[in-house]
Amino acid sequence: MTDQIADNLRRVQDRIASAAIAAGRRPEDITLVAVSKTKPIEAVAAALAAGQMVFGENRVQEAAVKFPELRAKYPLSLHIIGGLQTNKVRDAVRIADAIESLDRPKLADAIAAAIAREGRTPKLLIEVNTGQEPQKSGIARDDADRFIDDCKSRFGEALIGLMCVPPHDEDPRPHFTWLADRAARHGLATVSMGMSADFEIAIACGATWVRVGSAIFGSR
Ligand SMILES: *Cc1c(COP(=O)(O)O)cnc(C)c1O
Repeated sequence: MTDQIADNLRRVQDRIASAAIAAGRRPEDITLVAVSKTKPIEAVAAALAAGQMVFGENRVQEAAVKFPELRAKYPLSLHIIGGLQTNKVRDAVRIADAIESLDRPKLADAIAAAIAREGRTPKLLIEVNTGQEPQKSGIARDDADRFIDDCKSRFGEALIGLMCVPPHDEDPRPHFTWLADRAARHGLATVSMGMSADFEIAIACGATWVRVGSAIFGSR
């Protein structure tokens, strides 16, 4: 498993570099977030041993079980990328270096309160539901500008970017382009988009973070 994960990581990093160069961008301007959800701690350890230091988890509880021990050994960075319930926010603020799924005013309230209590401020990204899918997390497109402005004044420099997960069955390009444009308009430097199936397209559209799971750790 260790060799396989190291091989997969190398391949993904090569593909990121090629996609960046093809888009006239620098490979080092794109950060690979290795999505380790549902995978055992051994898989994360294998990725760390291969030099991968940035990880994404969907669930706060799972992340809280997997990462503290590894954190003592490696300078890793942990991102919470899944829909976040307000009752999990305090734990998220305690363990995460970035929360990529800020998507509603109530969650912003809870995060602000948790930051005050914990004395620790993760980087924050606003997730936008670019496809207007009712079952999906993310602030609605039409509400995005106002929510971004509110979060900017509330969180200041901690708000660094936008994130999206386009609809499964659509061409992701219009969604990626929309998100990158919206981030630029708001002066936000981080654009988190692209997964195993489409991270090269996302890079062509301006992604600065790509969140890749199965291409590294295998199917779930
Ligand atoms: C699972 C997940 C990913 C990674 O998906 P893969 O297709 O396995 O690369 C990226 N982002 C989010 C929000 C996810 O939930």
